[in-house]
Amino acid sequence: MKPSVLILGGGLSGIAAAAALAAEGCSVQIVERHRYLGGRASGFQDGEDWIDNCQHVVLGCCHSILDLFERLKIRNLISFHSSIPFLANGKTTILSPSIFPAPFHFLPGFLAAPLFSVREKWSILSLFARLSVGHENAEILEKMSMSEWLKKEKQPFSVIERFWKIILISSLNETLENMSAKYGVMVLKEAFLQSADSAAVGIPNVPLVSLYREAEKTLFGDLGVKSVRGTIKQIVFSESKPSVFLEEGTKLEADDLISSLPFYNLLPILPLPLQEDPFFKRFRRLETTPIVGIHFWFDRKITDKRFGAFPGSPIHWFFAKPDENDSQGAYYIQLVISASYEFSKTSNSELIDMGIRELQKYLPDSEKANLVKSRLVREMRATFSIKPETDNLRPSHKTEIPHFYLAGDWTDTGWPATMEGAVQSGYRCAELILEQKGFQKKILK
Ligand SMILES: Cc1cc2nc3c(=O)[nH]c(=O)nc-3n(C[C@H](O)[C@H](O)[C@H](O)COP(=O)(O)OP(=O)(O)OC[C@H]3O[C@@H](n4cnc5c(N)ncnc54)[C@H](O)[C@@H]3O)c2cc1C
Repeated sequence: MKPSVLILGGGLSGIAAAAALAAEGCSVQIVERHRYLGGRASGFQDGEDWIDNCQHVVLGCCHSILDLFERLKIRNLISFHSSIPFLANGKTTILSPSIFPAPFHFLPGFLAAPLFSVREKWSILSLFARLSVGHENAEILEKMSMSEWLKKEKQPFSVIERFWKIILISSLNETLENMSAKYGVMVLKEAFLQSADSAAVGIPNVPLVSLYREAEKTLFGDLGVKSVRGTIKQIVFSESKPSVFLEEGTKLEADDLISSLPFYNLLPILPLPLQEDPFFKRFRRLETTPIVGIHFWFDRKITDKRFGAFPGSPIHWFFAKPDENDSQGAYYIQLVISASYEFSKTSNSELIDMGIRELQKYLPDSEKANLVKSRLVREMRATFSIKPETDNLRPSHKTEIPHFYLAGDWTDTGWPATMEGAVQSGYRCAELILEQKGFQKKILK
């Protein structure tokens, strides 16, 4: 008999666990407090329009989330872009993989890049060359910040500012000073050195809410997962089965429980003694990092590019949706500032003015366009902070409580806080639950 499983939270980690377990014949329920699934990777409604919490991108090296998108039949809604545009001084540097085999596939792209001087190109390429042959000591790197590591590797200030910062801060949502070198190095290796496709940038062609509404059709339809809408108030572990109480009083129970909630949502609903148990108590020491998204609607198209980086700007990336106008037909573009600590106290209007100034600098056609509307989205707890020496605060998926498992981007996935990490955690919980019943099944990609 396959177990019944109750999954707390309908973000990507919960969806991944649900899809994998249901495909193996388990009876699965997923409890989510919001109207739509997707959690932090989704969006919200603003009048007649759907706005992304922030554009979410997936890289070609993220095999588990791509597997999940296949399972949910939404892979066709993601477009992959193998060329990465960096805009500066009126010139565009396009980093594209060449016909050269990995890890040399980006070599011609870097050599031709107008953004960097010969010395800067040499610095970047020699660091990639060293990473492709070197075996870094993960224990040492975990104690070191990425900015210390880049300095140790003698990377010039200009290269750090205009290349490494753009790539790393947005991938790990942390400043180089706060970022664990272990994960910074891991991302560089995974994205740039594995294969020509590993750095390809996957962007959904539809608003994120629409993406996960499509996914729900497969999850709740074909796979038969049961959806429960409600806010979980309390988790209870009794002799028989673990259970949860929803705010309105409903009790739900199952053979196994997976929490896919962020640590700050999980801790307060655990039984009081567990909140002080060292296994769970350490989550309190995890910190979070903010992201700011600035959303603009113009009366006309301001770029032909789908996305691009603004090296040297406080704005890291822009995402334009040329075919996705709002309900009034205005042209939509998003700007993203990852690890946006320095703007925590900046007012919305100042941030919007800054966004317009940066757009005019990097995409000069925006000067001719009229702004129709703007909207600022601040995610103060966008992700957990991948600081040095954080590994020991991230819990294993199997807890010390029988039949209770933990998923979520913040658990011990070996990845920074990403959709890939979230999906891997859900898949791993599914594997553990099946294993416990004697079914060996490799789900993780
Ligand atoms: C602005 C922003 C930009 C990002 N950009 C990227 C990106 O480009 N690429 C990338 O890979 N990652 C990105 N991330 C990170 C990515 O969104 C997360 O790593 C991932 O979505 C986390 O999924 P999760 O399932 O672990 O958690 P969540 O998405 O937080 O899911 C938890 C779910 O639990 C629900 N919940 C919480 N408490 C309760 C309760 N008491 N009762 C019922 N339900 C509850 C929540 O509503 C939520 O749906 C970004 C994050 C943010 C915020």
